[in-house]
Amino acid sequence: MTAKVLRSCRLCKSALRHFRSLSGCGRGVHTTFIDNDAETADIVISGGGMVGTAMACALGNEPHLADKRIVLLESAPKKEFTLPENYSNRTCTVSPSTVNLLNSFGAWDEILQMRCQPVKRMQVWESCSDSLITFNKDDMMGDLAFVVENDVILEATRRSLTAMGDRVDVMYNTSASSYIIPGVTAGHKNVNQNSWVTISTNDGKTIKTKLLIGADGMNSGVRKAGEFHTVKWDYKQLALVATLHVTGVSENTVAWQRFLPTGPLALLPLSTERCCMIWTTTPENARNLRDLPVDSFVDAVNDALWHERDKDSTAMSLGQSFQGILNGIFSSEMTDRQMPPTIVDVDDNSRAHFPLTLVHASNYVLQRVALIGDSAHRIHPLAGQGVNLGFGDVSCLRDILVQSSQEGADPGSLSYLTQYETERQRAVLPVIATIEGLHRLYSTSLTPVVVLRSLGLQATNAMTFLKDKIVGQASG
Ligand SMILES: Cc1cc2nc3c(=O)[nH]c(=O)nc-3n(C[C@H](O)[C@H](O)[C@H](O)COP(=O)(O)OP(=O)(O)OC[C@H]3O[C@@H](n4cnc5c(N)ncnc54)[C@H](O)[C@@H]3O)c2cc1C
Repeated sequence: MTAKVLRSCRLCKSALRHFRSLSGCGRGVHTTFIDNDAETADIVISGGGMVGTAMACALGNEPHLADKRIVLLESAPKKEFTLPENYSNRTCTVSPSTVNLLNSFGAWDEILQMRCQPVKRMQVWESCSDSLITFNKDDMMGDLAFVVENDVILEATRRSLTAMGDRVDVMYNTSASSYIIPGVTAGHKNVNQNSWVTISTNDGKTIKTKLLIGADGMNSGVRKAGEFHTVKWDYKQLALVATLHVTGVSENTVAWQRFLPTGPLALLPLSTERCCMIWTTTPENARNLRDLPVDSFVDAVNDALWHERDKDSTAMSLGQSFQGILNGIFSSEMTDRQMPPTIVDVDDNSRAHFPLTLVHASNYVLQRVALIGDSAHRIHPLAGQGVNLGFGDVSCLRDILVQSSQEGADPGSLSYLTQYETERQRAVLPVIATIEGLHRLYSTSLTPVVVLRSLGLQATNAMTFLKDKIVGQASG
């Protein structure tokens, strides 16, 4: 068996480490069966996007898991990355807790060496009234967030993996084509559930693993193979993204979001003169905007940021009286409205749109299977939380696997994985509920709703302790 494992494993060191583990020399091993024709691994991560690669880094970096063989499968080929002059139109606002995770395995330093932009202030306002809310770094301890291109995050995590040498066996250009999950997959329903998961790849490999981690995105094959009950709906909106050239700002460290009745328009700072735009709107409007000539497109974005035609007179006058009362109570909390930047140009070919759907697996785990990132929860981007929740999954699952290893348990043990599910659903479900609430609240221009939401936003803006709490929650 030794020779066979050595032949089938890609890297000798990894195979030796694994043989020690299988033969019981490693800690926490519960061998059920070994098929001599298959490779074996303690943990297989299917999907090497931002979240899957971060998972591989977090596990590979963990001394308590040093005796575990970890495999990462990614269907895309490995591309050589050079930082382009133009900014990508795909970016994420990353929270301080994401920075901590990336820092724990050296990826944050890699990002700093490439590029990112700090967010020191956020301003959220709407087109139907004058109400707004601001979050300032000066009010809080530490940074609010950073805007980082997705490609930069991915490259930084890949560099961290490379720096770990052969600690994680990374297989690019390798798709998991099917999974056999004992107790779930047809024809294997009566198999002992403690048997290992079997993964077949497009290039003819078979890998047996104690724990399969699904990090394969919103259309997750792992989620389907595990027959996870999944809630899905289509927002019937598109997110139009673009890289904009801006003027009228000095540092450009403010994240802007204006709620329009058709959906929110967000501008995230990328550099002193560039912003990433995420404009959620009707499919028809998104397609029109994507195809407009540059000048008309620039005019349309400036108009969406500045126009006054949605203003509701009742909400405006009630809002002014209410602001007077608030200023009397919270005298230090005067509204500190800033003017958004002016858009002057858009990068060629940077306009693209994405469908917006909610996908949520009712459970994140099975015996020997865990879902992380978009494979477990794909959310609306209006709160900029999608990948941050995925990175939160990574930190949590790493900690649970360390605990299970220290206690001599199998990494696929359901009792440990259930702790992961409970902890993450406590974090994810309130975010989904908040996003749904905001989405519905701002999708209407009915006067009573506009009045109530405007007064609510003004009151929240006046209360620093409440804003601290909101930022604390969003920071993870
Ligand atoms: C317009 C827009 C704006 C957004 N803005 C933000 C933001 O500001 N902040 C934020 O936190 N989030 C944001 N998000 C969400 C964020 O982009 C996603 O949450 C994140 O990309 C999910 O990463 P992931 O690694 O889970 O999944 P994915 O990025 O989908 O990665 C899945 C990976 O799995 C691989 N794969 C798939 N199937 C297989 C297989 N069978 N075998 C092997 N590999 C496989 C794929 O090749 C891919 O690399 C935004 C999303 C959108 C659409």
